[in-house]
Amino acid sequence: MNAVQQFTLSGIALPKDAGSMLDEICEHFVEHADVQRTEDFALLKSKAGTASIRVQDRKLLIELACPSEKALQMSRTSIAEHLFYFAGEEPFELSWSEPAPLSVLPNIHEVTVVSAEDVTPHMRRVKFSCADVTPFVGGDLHVRLLVPPKGRHPVWPGFRADGRVAWPEGEDELLVRIYTIRAVDVERGELWIDFLQHPASGVRTPGADFARDAQPGQLAALLGPGGGGLPAAKSILFVGDESALPAIARIAAEMPSDTRMQAIIEVLDAAEEQPLPSVGSLDVRWLHRKAYPAGLKSILAEEARKAISSMEEETFVWIACEKEDVRSARAFLKSRGHSRKNMYVAWYWERDPT
Ligand SMILES: Cc1cc2nc3c(=O)[nH]c(=O)nc-3n(C[C@H](O)[C@H](O)[C@H](O)COP(=O)(O)OP(=O)(O)OC[C@H]3O[C@@H](n4cnc5c(N)ncnc54)[C@H](O)[C@@H]3O)c2cc1C
Repeated sequence: MNAVQQFTLSGIALPKDAGSMLDEICEHFVEHADVQRTEDFALLKSKAGTASIRVQDRKLLIELACPSEKALQMSRTSIAEHLFYFAGEEPFELSWSEPAPLSVLPNIHEVTVVSAEDVTPHMRRVKFSCADVTPFVGGDLHVRLLVPPKGRHPVWPGFRADGRVAWPEGEDELLVRIYTIRAVDVERGELWIDFLQHPASGVRTPGADFARDAQPGQLAALLGPGGGGLPAAKSILFVGDESALPAIARIAAEMPSDTRMQAIIEVLDAAEEQPLPSVGSLDVRWLHRKAYPAGLKSILAEEARKAISSMEEETFVWIACEKEDVRSARAFLKSRGHSRKNMYVAWYWERDPT
């Protein structure tokens, strides 16, 4: 028999309403894992391992089983962060059979800025060197970029006893923003991130500013990768703005030759368009925000609805842009009964309320 070694951990959660938290867990993880559900039980399976969660005596009994210690710790953190997020302001407790290791998180990668250059007038590419780029090859695409305060030796996050991330505080507080690994240069041991220099009047844009000011030799860290990889599909509809352009470009570049792709991408103007090489077939339509009538914000969402209405049913729908546009696209996909397993729909940024 081919016995695969399993690393296991048990947890007990005390939410206000265990049943509705199990509902939320299943609802959320269906886009990231294979979810099997009975009334009081859920089994979540992904390449990271399995999580079985049972409602008993108004508690959630959690059993994690993963192929490595690292995967186990990452699964614990993922479950813990999600459960506390679902609990919101309500009272919630979570404990584990083993204490969380006190060292730094296992998926932290310290990186050093190699160079920074403009790809287009508003897209700045920062290349980072990294001791081991292999975790970034062929898997999840996204990371949390961690930038230490200027002039301070970096302190990277560890674990809290409940499994959540223990973020450094006070003078060691990190700037944390989510980005996509645009490309991995295995030979040079480099990772590229493209940062939109988004115009914002009167508000700070720390993530964009990091890229604007990045200097060779500057230290940062990447937490991840995570957040989804290449769609397992032969036909893909992409809808996105500049924040999604790095992900669309990377997916298009890495999909196999028999993939048919259509992309609707909103950028400021023609100067922000980029070549999107792919061995598959890719049909790109660029929308120019600068040409929109004043006050109109939702042309991308409208174009998404039109494209969804005319696509083949089995097409994988990949949408990432501003929160409201994403909400409207998600509602439209739901109204059409599009399978949740056949979509990636994520908001990448949020417009300030006007
Ligand atoms: C999974 C994922 C992957 C992402 N990948 C990338 C990537 O590869 N490249 C990239 O540039 N971004 C990417 N983003 C988006 C990026 O995380 C956000 O734009 C982030 O808010 C930028 O941080 P900031 O410090 O520059 O601005 P913030 O401090 O977050 O916001 C400051 C102001 O800028 C506005 N703002 C923020 N983002 C945008 C935007 N994109 N367009 C217009 N206004 C904006 C906000 O409304 C606010 O008014 C990704 C997001 C996610 C969730």
